[in-house]
Amino acid sequence: MAIIPQADPSLRIARFRQEIDRAIGTTLSSRHYILGPAVEKFEHDFAAYLGVRHCVGVASGTDALALSLRSMGVGKGDEVITTALTAPATAQAILQCGAIPRFVDIDPASRCLDTGAVEAAITERTAAIIPVHLFGHPADMPRLMGIAGRHDIAVIEDCAQAHGAMIDGRRLGSFGHAAAFSFYPTKNLGGVGDSGAIVTNDDAIDARLRSLRNYGIPSGQKESSAMGFNSRMDELQAAILSVLLPYLDAGNAERRALAGEYRRELTGVGLCLPPDADGAIYHQFAIACRDRDHMARSLREMDIQTLVHYHPPLHYHPAFRTGDVVHLPECERLSSQLLSLPIQPEVASGNTGYISRSIMKVMGL
Ligand SMILES: *Cc1c(COP(=O)(O)O)cnc(C)c1O
Repeated sequence: MAIIPQADPSLRIARFRQEIDRAIGTTLSSRHYILGPAVEKFEHDFAAYLGVRHCVGVASGTDALALSLRSMGVGKGDEVITTALTAPATAQAILQCGAIPRFVDIDPASRCLDTGAVEAAITERTAAIIPVHLFGHPADMPRLMGIAGRHDIAVIEDCAQAHGAMIDGRRLGSFGHAAAFSFYPTKNLGGVGDSGAIVTNDDAIDARLRSLRNYGIPSGQKESSAMGFNSRMDELQAAILSVLLPYLDAGNAERRALAGEYRRELTGVGLCLPPDADGAIYHQFAIACRDRDHMARSLREMDIQTLVHYHPPLHYHPAFRTGDVVHLPECERLSSQLLSLPIQPEVASGNTGYISRSIMKVMGL
């Protein structure tokens, strides 16, 4: 039997290959390579899909976070509150601006920021909060926006795992002052290289981002008016993402259905299953089990690949150990227990029964 990979973006590309090939051909004939009509079209379509005013295409999800922080004036000495149960990119973006990540604990029910811990961590140096919608499960945005409003702090949603996810019918990315997306190949909306985007309803932030991504040159002008970067989305990524965007909701629905299959098979067997919410889109389906490494090894022997997201948590990474030692008990416990099963439709469809039975076998059931 062939190995069931944890994820394989090439299978999604293969599924839409004809349309993608056509889009690549059209783009090459257009003679635009960077920030051309394909990027404009994708920016327009993605903003409309999310229900926000602006979308700015950039080179990666990390850049989307870092440029968002800079567009709000976050810089040297500022503190940014975020979670330690996330990809290193989240905190790297904070370091890139000269700011200091302040990690607070998660709420185990959502695996996202504990809003009480966020409020307790606010100081006069706190400039921003970056909630991460971990694994496509929504962080508590209404409450976070309330806290941020009372303290006059910026909120940037890390939506790298939350394309299309919702709270009460409203898309994630439309709650914060800005939101950062990644289109890394394994994301729910992923290209064939690096790219990212920031969305916002704020005209001034949008204008600053368009300048920041392009050498500090404001849109429609020729001179650099401030420090800037080269962080632009390219035409080929944009054209491919425009092919895939109309299939995003269907892909997310498939992931939700697969999550439902796992849930039916694995409820009541003594595992901690991921939280569910109507608007969750299951970028990962991560179970928590006590002997995680044994489970991973045993599943691998049964030809099932799994991945660990994320261990160690970020407050143990040398790059982010700034200042006092912090203890984040819920984050640390989950970090040692989480195991991401295959959930990408192209690898998981038809396999959730076998994977669930294999898990139960490892548990001696
Ligand atoms: C993927 C990811 C990023 C970074 O995106 P890149 O495009 O790889 O730079 C940031 N945050 C989270 C939570 C991610 O999963």
